[in-house]
Amino acid sequence: MDPAVPTSFDDDPAIGRVLLSEEQLTRRIEELGAQLTQDYAGRPPLLVCVLRGAYVFLTDLARSIDLPVQIDFIAVSSYGATTRTSGVVRLVKDLEVDLTDRDVILVEDIVDTGLTLRYLRRSLEARGPASLEVCALLARESADLEGLGVRYVGFTIPNDFVIGYGLDVAERYRNLRYLAVYDPDAAAEPS
Ligand code: 5GP
Repeated sequence: MDPAVPTSFDDDPAIGRVLLSEEQLTRRIEELGAQLTQDYAGRPPLLVCVLRGAYVFLTDLARSIDLPVQIDFIAVSSYGATTRTSGVVRLVKDLEVDLTDRDVILVEDIVDTGLTLRYLRRSLEARGPASLEVCALLARESADLEGLGVRYVGFTIPNDFVIGYGLDVAERYRNLRYLAVYDPDAAAEPS
């Protein structure tokens, strides 16, 4: 372990302001689950979780939906180990389930530039689902949600880079129970 990397969240100066508390996240996700339960009554959807950032959201969202959903995972990569997008989306792990004639909900952590979403939408639409909607926990204020066809959003947030509740920097902070602003100036260089 790099001695410059904090070993506790309590004394990690890179964890900045709390943007969304655990209670706020829980409450909003229950609302989203109730909405999806209503909208998909009689046609239980297939939830496609975009790894890795959406895995925490997926587990809470899926348990808030009172329908027998199916769950599958897809993994893409666009950031590497930095906080800036590389501008290139790469499929790292594909789905196992056939999407033909399925009602699919793509479960995303955050819609930022929309690059990832555009790539995924194109890839999934080509597989012939009955419907395809997007449910994102977070969206940037600047994101064109209408243009990107994002129907369900948990919270709209400003431009700060955020960590926690599944979102990482170099695979750290995913298990923070809340969402915080990341303070790169205070952070130790990741090894
Ligand atoms: P987009 O392709 O929309 O620009 O970026 C989407 C992906 O970038 C997200 O799925 C997420 O993995 C990553 N990302 C964007 N903003 C943030 C952020 O503030 N924090 C973290 N940890 N990841 C982010």
